[in-house]
Amino acid sequence: MATIAIVGLGYVGLVYGGAFADLGNSVWGIDIDVEKVDKLRQGTMPIYEPGLQELIRRNVEAGRLRFTTDYAEAIPDAEFVFICVGTPSTLDGDADMRAVRAAAETIARHLSGHTIIVNKSTMPIGSGDFISALVEQLKPSDATFAIVTNPEFLREGSAVYDVFHPSRIVLGAEDREAAERVAELYRVLDAPILITDRRSAEMIKYASNAILATRISFINEIAQICEQVGADIKIVAQGMGYDPRIGPLFLEAGLGFGGSCFPKDVRALAAMAERVGCHPQLLHAVLEINEDQRRRFVRKVQELLGDLYGRPIALWGLAFKQDTDDVRESPALDVLRMLLQRGALVTAYDPAAMTNAAREVPDARYAPDPYAAVVGADALLIATPWNEFKQADLRRVKRLMRTPIIVDGRNIYEPAEVRSLGFVYVGVGRGHRA
Ligand code: NAD
Repeated sequence: MATIAIVGLGYVGLVYGGAFADLGNSVWGIDIDVEKVDKLRQGTMPIYEPGLQELIRRNVEAGRLRFTTDYAEAIPDAEFVFICVGTPSTLDGDADMRAVRAAAETIARHLSGHTIIVNKSTMPIGSGDFISALVEQLKPSDATFAIVTNPEFLREGSAVYDVFHPSRIVLGAEDREAAERVAELYRVLDAPILITDRRSAEMIKYASNAILATRISFINEIAQICEQVGADIKIVAQGMGYDPRIGPLFLEAGLGFGGSCFPKDVRALAAMAERVGCHPQLLHAVLEINEDQRRRFVRKVQELLGDLYGRPIALWGLAFKQDTDDVRESPALDVLRMLLQRGALVTAYDPAAMTNAAREVPDARYAPDPYAAVVGADALLIATPWNEFKQADLRRVKRLMRTPIIVDGRNIYEPAEVRSLGFVYVGVGRGHRA
């Protein structure tokens, strides 16, 4: 059993706090957000993540998991301190390291005895060295420490499952013994553990996100060609995916990638590459295709409806993907903003992300359920592939709409089935003849 402090209780830190406690460790979760910590102490989850509430409740009740805003309460006794704060994009595409720097400074001042600081946040290559120098400067003179880079690969929406079933554990350290001690925390999970140097570990995270984003932009480019030549991207992707060299995952054409990781990490990798004299053409293309995909979707709506000014439109989906309330860099929100800019009267619905979306886009209307959103609408747009939408009663939808048009940005429906119900249906890459 180890004593662990988790700094930053977002999608990564909170889930890890619960998971490490569940594995029998004594865990303190620290966040500077007083409201968030208050909520957690009362048993209310600040984010939506399947299985999280139960995981946290079980471990708080067992006395293995506590929350605080005070570093002094948690850091001095911790053997391991995990940095899990956010690293969003700056305006020029770099990773914003302000939260990491602030966390590292405060951790340093509270160190006591020997502590292993684990960088779990996604940080630019070289950050391990930077944090090491910073902590060295600020720590009490009798405290010692090691820095281990431990990038995270969990997916929002299945984060609780993912932390207990990781595809791999990557540990980067200059101090092999420190890496081995962190490896011990994970040993019970039965995942391959790769121990390497810090810079390679940092790069593994960026390169992994970049290749997944590349697959999405690639398939979206193929989808665009499919539309022009009359092929169906769903079948094309299926046929490609059977090849073991290609595989079936991340070949879903749609509105492109969003969320708090892929866009910012591809941008940060491109920015890093440029700083060291490289010319990251592929990364730029991946980002450009991704942004175009949203504009192309809105153009499709305009082609079907003409001028959007004053037109009632229903939008199903606001989260950047299903099973999450996260709207950071959500393609759905970009679509919503573009429609509102064109004067459309949009009524949106999402099973989990409406509060977050309303904070970002207060001038849209939000409906209490999917059917209320489509009443009197001239088109229904699908922007997030929630199961609730896949299973919707489309006959009822058709009766409620003014004009039965569906523009499906996530290819959740079969064109022939929807058309047989009397809808005009347009998906992504489904071909003119499909
Ligand atoms: P988040 O924005 O959801 O949470 C970050 C938390 O850190 C917030 O609660 C914030 O209040 C807190 N915080 C900020 N400054 C702090 C400080 N000085 N001290 C204590 N707490 C502080 O972020 P997230 O989505 O959990 O991501 C965290 C990191 O993990 C990022 O670098 C991200 O790129 C990476 N990551 C995220 C995911 C994901 O799916 N969200 C997956 C893999 C890796």
